Amino acid sequence: MKITSIRSHVLQCDMPEELGYSQQYYAKRTAHLVEVTTDEGLTGWGECFGPGNVALANKAIVERVIAPMVLGMDVLDRDVIWHKVYNLLRDHGQKGMPIQALSGVDIALWDIAGKSAGLPLHKLIGGAHRTDVAAYGYGMMLKRESVADHVARFEDEAAAIIGMGFSATKMKVGLGARDDVRLCEAVARGAGEARFMVDANHAYTTSDAFYVGRALDELGAYWFEEPVAPEDHDGYRELRAGLRTNIAGGEAEFARWGWRSILENRGLDIAQPEVCALGGITEYLRVLALCHAHFTPVVNHVWGSAVAVATNLQLLAAMPPLPGGLHPWEPMLEFDTTENRFRDELLAEPLDIQGQVARNSGRVTIPTAPGLGVTPDLAFIEMYEVR
Ligand code: CA
Repeated sequence: MKITSIRSHVLQCDMPEELGYSQQYYAKRTAHLVEVTTDEGLTGWGECFGPGNVALANKAIVERVIAPMVLGMDVLDRDVIWHKVYNLLRDHGQKGMPIQALSGVDIALWDIAGKSAGLPLHKLIGGAHRTDVAAYGYGMMLKRESVADHVARFEDEAAAIIGMGFSATKMKVGLGARDDVRLCEAVARGAGEARFMVDANHAYTTSDAFYVGRALDELGAYWFEEPVAPEDHDGYRELRAGLRTNIAGGEAEFARWGWRSILENRGLDIAQPEVCALGGITEYLRVLALCHAHFTPVVNHVWGSAVAVATNLQLLAAMPPLPGGLHPWEPMLEFDTTENRFRDELLAEPLDIQGQVARNSGRVTIPTAPGLGVTPDLAFIEMYEVR
């Protein structure tokens, strides 16, 4: 079965309101889907991490750089294709956009492999260790409003997200260390008995991260995500050694060689690989093995459309317990509670994560149809595609 075409679809729309995290405000939602077709009529879908104009640049890499390398190759030769592309792009980007672009292509090849075998992806990988997974809801984004307004809104929103049925919630910080502590206190109040996590999107110096982290130790936060720049391995190691709160990160790391470095650095309590960025499923499985070889639990980073969510549900199903037990540590599905029609309306049969969470005590079922287990609606893609 040969690859006959590789096409990118960048979807974009205006969001109902502008939202922010520690690095920027944004008012547009983007998703970058990859569609691979074969000479036997099977089509596969993948997704590349990367918002806004990054998605448009990645589209050019998918269609003009990667596609010419692999058209005509056997679609089932995923690992051969991965290494051909990686080796030819090594001189031009071992991390970042070339690998994000490769990720979407690789995921689409896995989707086809599953459809070709008539098996869901988790079965292809080795079976389901769980048939459903707990979801945590993130929200509490930054807005152009006062600190006091943030504080009031964050407390209400944390309570609302837990009220929707999510088993935990995650907030953004980024107003500055002192104000951020007030936000964390508000979320701790709003979340009540439920777990809460804090995502800094690498906004802090190490000393500011310690200031916030010591407050999180007192508040009982479950994890402190991307406290410092991903390149700051020393900062990560010092924070992990000096704080009780779990240090999480890794969404901005790529491929096994980058992950080897951050794992050997011993700076992470919880690893957050992003399958749509780090090199696709083929590479995710190697990174997962590396994480587990370091006894570092994994909670996948999830961003993007329903294709990314379905991919992650499959991977979460296939994730072995670490270290195992009667009541083992369990991963969670990351879920963005802000409006995202590319997730909620892309599929012919929507995953309805929010509905599942509300009905099933915060748990989401793993799709069982072949491949990723979901089918994008072509008319919907047509409506939002950037040309
Ligand atoms: Ca994050």
